[in-house]
Amino acid sequence: MTHLLGLEGLSAAELSAILDDAGRYVGVGYGDAPKGDALKGKVVANLFYEPSTRTRLSFGLAARRLGGDVVDFSPGGSSTAKGETFIDTAKNIEAMGVDAVVVRHSSPGAPHVLARHLKPHVRVVNAGDGPHEHPTQGLLDILTVRRRLGRVAGLTVGLVGDIAHSRVARSNIHGLLTLGAKVLVCGPPTLVPPDVARLGVEVAHDLDAVLPRCDVLNLLRIQFERQRTGLFPSVREYQLLFGMNGERMRLAKPDVLLLAPGPINRGVEVTPEVADGPNSAILDQVANGLAVRMAVLARLCRPG
Ligand code: ASP
Repeated sequence: MTHLLGLEGLSAAELSAILDDAGRYVGVGYGDAPKGDALKGKVVANLFYEPSTRTRLSFGLAARRLGGDVVDFSPGGSSTAKGETFIDTAKNIEAMGVDAVVVRHSSPGAPHVLARHLKPHVRVVNAGDGPHEHPTQGLLDILTVRRRLGRVAGLTVGLVGDIAHSRVARSNIHGLLTLGAKVLVCGPPTLVPPDVARLGVEVAHDLDAVLPRCDVLNLLRIQFERQRTGLFPSVREYQLLFGMNGERMRLAKPDVLLLAPGPINRGVEVTPEVADGPNSAILDQVANGLAVRMAVLARLCRPG
């Protein structure tokens, strides 16, 4: 693996190898050699052109836990304001001697552009490109399912909400289908792309009807920042039809696993009682995300 640009096209063996590595990194602390020095002498650049909390911090922490150095770039306060292009910025950061670039950008394909323009030894990791893919989020969601439920194949995973604008949905779909899960996408018709069924998922618009069949529910945030016009009548109506709340939980399997990529909008996609309740693995996802990012950086930066 040279870069991690998406989960689309990765084989079950490749996905499982990353997940196995990540499983070994869960709970690894500073200085836990030999796992702790895979990035010794390496520099990872975080290039985040969109806001981030979990992804940015955990990539930085992952690199440091493996003995690497981190440089952090955000467009605010940078020469982007003076008109410097995305590629020029990346090439200038590359000239400081970086080994890997972790990039988040609102344009789908931005990480692919860097993979083409940077020197061949520089590894590129997609940390979210517009509505396209967010591969490490997909991996950490799948790792959380695997660790909590012991398997992925044969499970029914419901992705709920804004499928159309969610890069998390797309990475989950590719990864889960490759690993043998059944994927069901459910949301208002305006937030589900008409051709998504072609990927091999079941499409539903009535959450209450499909809820009892799901082993896992991934509650996606409404991506208001990617919507130009109102795609549903009101947040209140969304809450009523698609929000996960205590009453709706009674329709679900008692041990249904609840995921949400974060940030969560408490009271919109999920009520606080459910987000903080016994079925929720939301904070496990964050811990597993650190392990996934360690595994990805170690794998990409490994010599030879
Ligand atoms: N943090 C995730 C992302 O960047 C999910 C979200 O923002 O809703 O895609």
